[in-house]
Amino acid sequence: MNDLRKVIEQLVRQTLLEMNHSETDLKPMVHAGTSLNTAHHYGKRQPLVAANWKMNQLSGTARSFMSDFQLRDRKNIQTLICAPHILLPVLAAGKNQPDLMLGAQNFYPEQSGAFTGEHNLDMLSDAGVQSVIIGHSERRNLFGEGDELLAKKLAMAVENKFLPIFCIGETLKERQDGATFRVLRNQLLTGLSSLKNPLPNPEMIVVAYEPIWAIGSGLTATADQAQEAVSFVRERLADRFSYSYANSIRILYGGSVNEKNASTLAAKPDIDGFLVGNASLDANKFSSIIEQTAACKRKVFVS
Ligand code: PEP
Repeated sequence: MNDLRKVIEQLVRQTLLEMNHSETDLKPMVHAGTSLNTAHHYGKRQPLVAANWKMNQLSGTARSFMSDFQLRDRKNIQTLICAPHILLPVLAAGKNQPDLMLGAQNFYPEQSGAFTGEHNLDMLSDAGVQSVIIGHSERRNLFGEGDELLAKKLAMAVENKFLPIFCIGETLKERQDGATFRVLRNQLLTGLSSLKNPLPNPEMIVVAYEPIWAIGSGLTATADQAQEAVSFVRERLADRFSYSYANSIRILYGGSVNEKNASTLAAKPDIDGFLVGNASLDANKFSSIIEQTAACKRKVFVS
């Protein structure tokens, strides 16, 4: 009965959404700084901080990162390291904290076969990987990964019980042209379009809002800009699924996050953690971001 209700609710929301095409409809329904959240919902979302090492590190530096990083205690927060494929077995061998997750930055959404140079999800699972980044702007723009492929990847990752980190974000030009919300909505909804019922637990889908102009540039979105975009994303998730489902999906911010700006961003109610590039290559900086995020989220939940 509950399942039937959810399906009907989802169909109605989707139909309403498709009827709404004007730019006004794409503005967030709530102001920056407010959100769908209540402290009650907040407590349901475990903060997550993920490292995206991109094409960096060698086996030696990866090993020493692991030993330094694991000296620090992490409570009430999930942590994930997304490393180049070739380093994943090295990290898996050095990992002694069971709740530290390993992620890949890419995979190919087929079972096996003639796909030279690619890795499938079974191979990643065999290497100790539980999560995958999908739709990172570098994969979209440098490697031409389009909406259809990304939707297929997201559906396949979910079906195979991987934790997908699904990235969306606007260019500087799109922001200046006032197209941010339209771009986010399109990327999000096309990405989700191949998900099949039954839907996974909402904790098993993670969205990362990564404004392209902030990635690797040293320019961070202000906490208000990030909160506004992330709460817009949560509203679209509520349109697509339901309010309670959307309130349990974690949404990360990514774009030049470091140990100096993490706590200001983490204080925003819809930002559930971070996807961190450059600052994640240093075990101390990355640990500091994680600790500040955990402390911030604990404070918001308690108050
Ligand atoms: C990223 O690669 O997803 C990223 C956010 O990088 P940086 O933190 O270096 O901007």
